[in-house]
Amino acid sequence: MARILILAGTTEATELAAALVADGHEVTSSLAGVTRSPSPRAGAVRRGGFGGVVGLDAYLRDHDIEVLVDATHPFAAVMPFHAVDAAAASGVPTCRLLRAPWTPVSGDAWHPVPTMEAAPDELRRLDARRVFLAVGRQSAAVFAECADMWFLVRAIEPPAGEWAEVVLQRGPFGLDDEIALLREHLVDTMVVKNSGGTATSAKLDAARRCGVRVVVVERPPQPDTLTFESVSAVAQWCQRLSK
Ligand code: NAP
Repeated sequence: MARILILAGTTEATELAAALVADGHEVTSSLAGVTRSPSPRAGAVRRGGFGGVVGLDAYLRDHDIEVLVDATHPFAAVMPFHAVDAAAASGVPTCRLLRAPWTPVSGDAWHPVPTMEAAPDELRRLDARRVFLAVGRQSAAVFAECADMWFLVRAIEPPAGEWAEVVLQRGPFGLDDEIALLREHLVDTMVVKNSGGTATSAKLDAARRCGVRVVVVERPPQPDTLTFESVSAVAQWCQRLSK
């Protein structure tokens, strides 16, 4: 059995910790410390940044980590690169757990943008008036200066300032609730990150049903590393490594 560090912060990371602990591994999940009340999970937990590649490399060595799994969010733009570099420096096998992105289906009105910063201009181009920002607290800050639109923000913790109406909720979200939210607030346009996965995909089904346009922010670049889309595939790889 192996001593495994999971770079966490996603639903899959929590599921992976449970699977690896059940397989008998010694698991530590690392959280950035962004959310004050993270979900409980199997195994040990540490919180806070490592201090860049050098800090993560030192952590891997100091704690005799044998496998590093990067299960951070598809929109974590920095940590996946640090994971690859630190694992190479310390000689620890590593992989990325990355869920598949969403793809549009018939009836969707998707408007892709390459970055969150490009989304406000796309909203203006679409003449959006009532916008649901399903992008998380930190990303929502990009829209704080758009005084010409009304915003609804859904997040686990409230964003700074008073520029938007706020719904404090943690996923997963059901289709009926998503439809009710869109109708209650007369939403005409939604902004989402192309996170993929099932925990938050109901909002896309709801948008299709309600005729709401969706500005879809594409994912940031990912490092060239061994990548799995499912928790079970990572768990099998860890089993193979520890034999
Ligand atoms: P990021 O831009 O890739 O990382 C920024 C810095 O945060 C890293 O350099 C690292 O600091 C620290 N960090 C990130 N993930 C960490 C982890 N799991 N454990 C310890 N330190 C971590 O990441 P982010 O977008 O700020 O996301 C932070 C966390 O929130 C991640 O765990 C991610 O999975 C989760 N999350 C992000 C999003 C999103 O949309 N970005 C959505 C949901 C959840 P050091 O350099 O000091 O080590």
